[in-house]
Amino acid sequence: MNYAQRVSRLAERLAELEVDCLLVGDRANVRYLSGFTGSAGALLIRATGASGDHLFLSDFRYELQAAEEVADCFAKGFTTAQEGQREVADLLAERLAGARRLGFEADRLTVSAQRRLAERLSGVELVGLEGTVAKLRRFKEAEEVERIAAAQALADQALKEVLEGGLGGRTEREVAIELAYRMRRLGAEGESFPAIVASGPHGALPHAKARDVEIAKGTLVTIDWGAQLDGYCSDCTRTYAVGRPSERAVEVYETVLAAQRRALAGLRPGVAASAVDRLARELIEQAGYGPRFGHSLGHGVGLEIHEAPRLGPPRPGEEEPELLAAGEVVTVEPGIYLPGELGVRIEELVVVGEEGNRILTSLPAQLTELE
Ligand code: ZN
Ligand code: ZN
Repeated sequence: MNYAQRVSRLAERLAELEVDCLLVGDRANVRYLSGFTGSAGALLIRATGASGDHLFLSDFRYELQAAEEVADCFAKGFTTAQEGQREVADLLAERLAGARRLGFEADRLTVSAQRRLAERLSGVELVGLEGTVAKLRRFKEAEEVERIAAAQALADQALKEVLEGGLGGRTEREVAIELAYRMRRLGAEGESFPAIVASGPHGALPHAKARDVEIAKGTLVTIDWGAQLDGYCSDCTRTYAVGRPSERAVEVYETVLAAQRRALAGLRPGVAASAVDRLARELIEQAGYGPRFGHSLGHGVGLEIHEAPRLGPPRPGEEEPELLAAGEVVTVEPGIYLPGELGVRIEELVVVGEEGNRILTSLPAQLTELE
C-alpha cells in the first residue's frame, strides 16, 4: 500500500480546496491514509505548499501499534490521559500555528466535537468538507483489489460449505451463524455485516434479520453475506430455491437476473452510475415490478461495506452525473420484493475495467434448487 502517494494526492486536493490542513478522524479514512488499524486515531494532513509535517495523533494505548503501522510520512503525537478530545484539540492548536483554514469531515465529525474544536482553535476558520477522502478511496489499487477478491473467495467457500447440508428444515438463524462461523474458520477477521438469511415472505424485506424460523420447502431463500479480510470487505447475494419453486418465483427470479445482466453489460468506465441503475430499473419496470425495486442498484465496496460511488437514480438537485471509472469496485444488486409473498435479490461484486469488468463472485447466478 502506497500511503505516501495517497497522502500527497489528498494534499494536492486540499490546496485546490484552499484549506491549509484537513483533520481526518473517520476510522476507515485514517486507515486508508496512514495504515493505522486501531480504533482511536486522527490525522492532520497538510495541503501542498503548507508548512509542517503531516501528523498522526492517538493516545498512549496505541503508541506501540502506531510505531509498527503508521506510514513514515507522518510525525506522531500521543496524548496520555483519557481526556482525549480536549488534549487532541490542544495538540492541534499547537500544530496549527499559522494556519488560517482547517478542513474537517463535515459528514463524520459530531456537532459537539466541532464545537470543542471551534472553542480551542479560535482564529482558525473551520471548513466543513464532505467526501474528500471517500473520493480518493473509490479507485482501488491492485493490492486493494486482490484483498477484496480474496475476501470474496473466502466468503464463497464458506457458503458452499454451508449449502452442502441443504437449507430446508434449518432455521434462518442457524444458517446465518454457521456462515459466520465458517468464514472465521477460513481466516476472516469477521463478517462485513451480519448475514441476511431470509426465506419465503420474509425475503420481501431487503434488510431482513435472520429469524428462529425453519426454512420451508417450496420457498425462496435470500442470503446476503460478506467476509472481512485484511481490512477489506466482500459483498454478495444469492437467492436459492428450496425444493421446487413456484412459477411466480421463477418469473420474478428471471426478471431480476435479466435486469442484473443488462446492468453488468452497460457497466464500464466513463458511464454515469445513474445510467447503470437505469438499465436494470427499466427492465424491472417493463416487467411490471417497478415499484417493488425500491433501493439503489449498487454501491462501492472497500475498507467499508458501503462506500462511494452509489449506483442509484440521480439525487434531487444533483448537478453533474457521477461517472464510473476503471479500478472502482462496485456491487450490482437489483431485487424485487413482493410483500407477503417472496423476495429475490442477486448481487455481484465487480471491478470496473478498461478492458472489461472482472466479476469477483464465483457462485453461479442462475436459479439453483437445493434440498
Ligand atoms: Zn450485500
Ligand atoms: Zn451490497
